[in-house]
Amino acid sequence: MERRARVRFDGGFAMTIGGGAHRAARALPVINPATGQPFAEAPDARPDDLDAAVAAARGAFAAWAATPHGERARMVRELADAVEADADPLAALLTREQGKPIRDAAREVAGLVSWLRAAAGFAIPREVHEDSGTRYCETRRVPIGVVAAIAPWNYPLLLAAFKLGPALVTGNTVVMKPSPFTPLATLKLGEIARGILPPGVLNVVSGGDQLGPWLTAHRGIDKIAFTGSTATGRDVMRSAADGLKRLTLELGGNDPAIVMHDVDPAGLAKALFWASFGNSGQVCVASKRVYVHAGVHDAVRDALVEYAAGVTVGDGMDEATMLGPVNNRRQYDRLLDLWADCRASGLAFACGAEVPQRPGHFLNPAIIDNPPDTARIVQEEQFGPILPLLRFDDYDEAVARANASPFALGATVWAGDEEAGWALGERLRAGNVWVNECRPLSPLVPFAGHGQSGFGVENGLEGLLEYTLPRTMSRVRPIAASR
Ligand code: NAD
Repeated sequence: MERRARVRFDGGFAMTIGGGAHRAARALPVINPATGQPFAEAPDARPDDLDAAVAAARGAFAAWAATPHGERARMVRELADAVEADADPLAALLTREQGKPIRDAAREVAGLVSWLRAAAGFAIPREVHEDSGTRYCETRRVPIGVVAAIAPWNYPLLLAAFKLGPALVTGNTVVMKPSPFTPLATLKLGEIARGILPPGVLNVVSGGDQLGPWLTAHRGIDKIAFTGSTATGRDVMRSAADGLKRLTLELGGNDPAIVMHDVDPAGLAKALFWASFGNSGQVCVASKRVYVHAGVHDAVRDALVEYAAGVTVGDGMDEATMLGPVNNRRQYDRLLDLWADCRASGLAFACGAEVPQRPGHFLNPAIIDNPPDTARIVQEEQFGPILPLLRFDDYDEAVARANASPFALGATVWAGDEEAGWALGERLRAGNVWVNECRPLSPLVPFAGHGQSGFGVENGLEGLLEYTLPRTMSRVRPIAASR
């Protein structure tokens, strides 16, 4: 479908409020992590800007909720088409603010498109409990109201898409807030939507660290859909209590992977590497602790180190780059501290013992060989390219060590014998368990964190229905007068 107005990628960045561009009195610098230097500015919303966004979303809610589902789905598909038409400049912008290699950024934009299309493809179920001669009773799904959608900086567009498609298709209006580290591609998404969705249905606000708490505490919000760290998730939950806001929280993880005794170490190295180091380890479901059977531990370590030696670290805009920088200075400093702790504790670096001396937030992939379970690099979610490889002797021990974490987001088993891998996977405590594959997320498949990794579900029909409330209606049918 022909777009009404193409978005300009050489211009400035404005928020989207009430269907129009909204500028703020103040601006926030956005840093390119490959240089460590600011390259653009994003609006820094104040409370009155946020009030305007929430008021626009509230004002648009009744008409959007009353719009037939098929019509809402059509507009969400149109938004997906428009994003697809601007995929290249969006991906380039994403790489510059996030740091990821341009091919990965293009994949993320494609993910946004397919998540929007998938949300538009779901039918919203209606349950009829009774349809007799005397009585009718049904439960329908109705929208909740105004959704605050909050995303982190590792996958700004994809994690926005997890929320946006389901919220819109089910009839909610949205105030979306990207991370202050990666606001730009999301601001452009808002701009793209201006010509497609009715005014106020999608509002995008950007700002500093205070904007998230202002948004979650706002009285005009009915539901919060949040992806971020577990610590922030707790604050969000507290903040939701006053207004009894509905909540979906996708939080941190410290995912274990178990490598069984019968794998082919050389054949596995590539998949194992990317499961941990993809997006420079900044993935909620990256394998963050890899337990390797003693029978293959040294061979797996050596194959991983050999594979890592061929991986190019650099500016994501360079086509040759396979791993980009760490997204922001705060996270880079955290990782340097973890890295220094490994050095100070005398842990063995199989690779990555040097920090690159260049501008930008760069780290080489580091593998720590068999640290104790008590080491910080095992206990904490690193969210970066430093990986502990842990040796185990028997599977009961591996399961116990893998499950010894308050997080329970994802877990992976790598096995020669697929059935044995499956059986081992069934013993792991996690919302998502994968055998011989690397986090195959899909908009059609529910994704949930157990334990401290989340509250509620995203994706799949179950995730979609988290943007609805059940409403039951019944009536007694008139008794025919003649009888
Ligand atoms: P973060 O919790 O610091 O921030 C996430 C978002 O919340 C940002 O937009 C931030 O501005 C906002 N925010 C910060 N404080 C807030 C508050 N008090 N109230 C409301 N909003 C607030 O997380 P991050 O550092 O951006 O992301 C990394 C974390 O996200 C990691 O722990 C990672 O595992 C997790 N994560 C989880 C998933 C998942 O699906 N489970 C996916 C990606 C990332």
